[in-house]
Amino acid sequence: MLQDAYGRPITYLRVSITDRCNLRCVYCMPEEGVPWQSHENILRFEEIVAVVRVMAEQGIRSVRLTGGEPLVRKGVVDLVRMIADIPGIEDVSLTTNGILLEKYAADLAKAGLKRVNVSLDTLQAEKFARITRGGCVEKVWRGIQAAESHGLQPVKINVVVMRSVNDEELLDMARLTQVHPWHIRFIELMPVNNRYFWGPGYPMPDDAYFSIGEMLSVLQPLGLQRIPKSVGSGPAREYCIPGAPGKIGFISPLGEHFCENCNRLRLTADGCLRPCLLSDTEVAVREVLRAGGDILPHIQQAVALKPEGHELALEHLPNRRCMRDIGG
Ligand code: SAM
Ligand code: SF4
Repeated sequence: MLQDAYGRPITYLRVSITDRCNLRCVYCMPEEGVPWQSHENILRFEEIVAVVRVMAEQGIRSVRLTGGEPLVRKGVVDLVRMIADIPGIEDVSLTTNGILLEKYAADLAKAGLKRVNVSLDTLQAEKFARITRGGCVEKVWRGIQAAESHGLQPVKINVVVMRSVNDEELLDMARLTQVHPWHIRFIELMPVNNRYFWGPGYPMPDDAYFSIGEMLSVLQPLGLQRIPKSVGSGPAREYCIPGAPGKIGFISPLGEHFCENCNRLRLTADGCLRPCLLSDTEVAVREVLRAGGDILPHIQQAVALKPEGHELALEHLPNRRCMRDIGG
């Protein structure tokens, strides 16, 4: 079993299956886009499966596919099936912007996907198009409905909260949990290679940061009740509106350390194991795989390199990669 130097068992792997995306969210990518990795740098499906297989033998039980946008990668349904079939893997989930979810939800569910997290930062169509630089919120709604109707539940909705961008929608978003059994998860903005001018009308990224403490005070009128940590809640601190079928979670990478219970490793689209989202340290496995070598020592090295906690408070910002490379 994989255990790091601080005694944390490692049971969860996030895989970025592509660095490409069909949106350009202001806090994630510059408007002109970024140079994509060449095809030969990106792990092939068999290579991703080979990594997951070795990890499953070492105790990894949950795999989340992310990106870039995972649903733009051709054959994603086959990849889900291949991973779900690996002995030991109990849970395969996916984080998506939802644009292509209506098209794929049924096939993904049949292939063995259990759940989806959908990113949705605003309920307003025009604002959504501006934040994502061209996205259609209606498509995301249809995607969420399709996911639900095909049993990809509970649907979790990720909201990155930004001052003067979408902070005035917190109450509306939270109230969705009174009518739907969804988990709305409010996430603090992270300074990962996005401290540039986002465009006219946007605050500077450092000013856009909106802390969980501020979110809780905006949501005070709802009388939120803290609920015990549930399986699969990950780093979210969870609450509910009394009597509501859904839940409200808060993810605070900056304001509150969630590192203590971190059980995850990340695999980038170009085949590097990343011990911590918020540190640039990586262990490359692609060439070892391609040379037919044993990747287990590299996996063990990545686990051994997991830091006790991230160093954002010390202003050691990760700057080698963007969020769409790492997968969030
Ligand atoms: N494209 C997919 C999506 O948007 O859901 C998956 C990849 S995206 C990088 C994963 C998650 O990271 C999304 O929920 C997105 O909102 C979040 N994210 C991206 N940049 C972020 C940032 N700077 N701070 C906090 N969350 C961020
Ligand atoms: Fe694409 Fe997701 Fe980044 Fe938005 S947050 S640009 S959807 S990868």
